[in-house]
Parts: sequence; C-alpha cells; structure tokens
Amino acid sequence: VVSAQRICKSFGRVEVLKGIDLEVHEREVLCLIGPSGSGKSTLLRCINHLEKIDAGRLYVDGELVGYRQRGDKLHELREKEIALQRKDIGMVFQRFNLFPHMTAVENVMEAPVQVRREPKAQARQRALELLERVGLGDKAFNYPGQLSGGQQQRVAIARALAMQPKLMLFDEPTSALDPELVGDVLGVMKQLAKDGMTMVVVTHEMQFAREVADTVLFMDGGVVVEKGPPEQVIGNPQHERTKSFLARVL
Ligand code: ATP
Ligand code: MG
Repeated sequence: VVSAQRICKSFGRVEVLKGIDLEVHEREVLCLIGPSGSGKSTLLRCINHLEKIDAGRLYVDGELVGYRQRGDKLHELREKEIALQRKDIGMVFQRFNLFPHMTAVENVMEAPVQVRREPKAQARQRALELLERVGLGDKAFNYPGQLSGGQQQRVAIARALAMQPKLMLFDEPTSALDPELVGDVLGVMKQLAKDGMTMVVVTHEMQFAREVADTVLFMDGGVVVEKGPPEQVIGNPQHERTKSFLARVL
C-alpha cells in the first residue's frame, strides 16, 4: 500500500529525513518508534503530502503522492487532486481536533456528507455504526467537550474510518491521554488491525507494538536504524542505538 524509496526532507538547513525506505503491505501494521526529533511525525506527514518531500519517490496504493510524472519531470498536483489522494488515507493525531460545535455523530458524518456528498441519513446511519464499533454508541449525541480525552480520540478514529480509508496513519494517538484512558484507544486500534486495516502507527507504547505490529521500524536522526518483526527489533535489537533507546522507554 505504501512504498517509499530514499525519501529526503529538510526544513531549512536541517535534514530531517535522510533517505528513508519504507514498504507497507496490505493488512500490515507498521509501528514507527524512535527518539523525539528523529523524524517520525515528518515521515507520517509526508505519506499524505502534508509535507512535501525534497527527493525520493513515495507511492500510496500505486499512485505517486503529490505529483504526476511526465517523462522524467515531476509536476506537483493541484490542491484538488491532492485532496482526492488524501481521501483514502485516514489520519489520527495526538490531539483529537474534533469540531467542538458538533456532536460526536456530526463529527463522524461531516466528511462523508461534505466531501463525498453522501445523503445525510445514510451518513448518519454509518456514523452511528462506527461509534458503536469504537465503543461509543451511547455518546453519539455528546459534544467533544462532554467527552473524555480517550473518548474524543475514539471519535477521531471513527471519523477517519468514515471515509473508508485504505490506510490509517496514527501519530502518537495515546500520548496526550491520561494513563487510564490509553487502554480503550489501543483496544480499538488492536481491533482495527485484526479486521485487516493497513496501519502505520507512531507510538511509544512498546507493549502495543509487540502485540500488534507486523513490522517495527526504529528511526534515529532521520534514518532507519533497524527494521523487522517486533520480537526482533524490540525483543532482540542488534544496534546500539536501538538498545539504548529501548532501555530508556521500556
Ligand atoms: P517526537 O517524538 O517528539 O514527536 P518526531 O520523531 O515526530 O519527534 P519530527 O516532529 O518529525 O520528530 O521532527 C523532526 C525534526 O524536524 C525536529 O528537529 C523538528 O524540530 C523538525 N521539524 C519538524 N517540523 C518542522 C517544521 N515545520 N519546520 C521546521 N522544523 C521542523
Ligand atoms: Mg512526532
């Protein structure tokens, strides 16, 4: 679903991604781990073209992200075409950024109605089913302000799922939550993985990565240091940098 070759990204003179290779296959769960500032969020944001890459190639679902190739020249896509590509990619951030003036169900049905022009009744029906699926069937008519952080984050997941994405990106979805609320959100993500969703998850939850990830990728200083199944990368890391990182977070 995702294929990246040697992607580079700088902010000014700071090189944040220094030639990252990445493959994510259908139904695969890839967990991205690494120290603060290693470029995890930047990489995730490149995948849906919230950041422009400076070099390399990035494909989602076989399509070049953000560009059209003519001969050997790349032309950036128009905002509309980029939006079309993003439609298939769900993203959940650390902060839930729900619309505060809309109820949970209105938040979830917003994109299908506005972007996909789905009839309201149908969108509402599906939104209610999705809220049921994330364990919030009884909170559908609450406003974000009336929900806990964990509940808001589950609404955010339901909202992303409403667009029936081919790929879900999560950027530390539980790190802003009180510890007792983390489990419910991880539980929803675990179920989503079981249902076969393709996922890229930036997380510091090593237990989750161990249980759910097919592949763990450890990044440091803008490069992939180590990559493999969790029992290898987390259970038996080969590189000094991976070892010292894990020693700090485990
Ligand atoms: P964390 O675990 O703290 O979230 P991260 O691995 O997600 O860290 P990034 O957010 O990708 O790290 O940031 C990588 C580097 O890029 C940092 O040094 C950061 O300061 C820099 N950076 C990120 N976004 C921008 C930006 N918009 N402009 C300038 N520098 C940026
Ligand atoms: Mg980050």
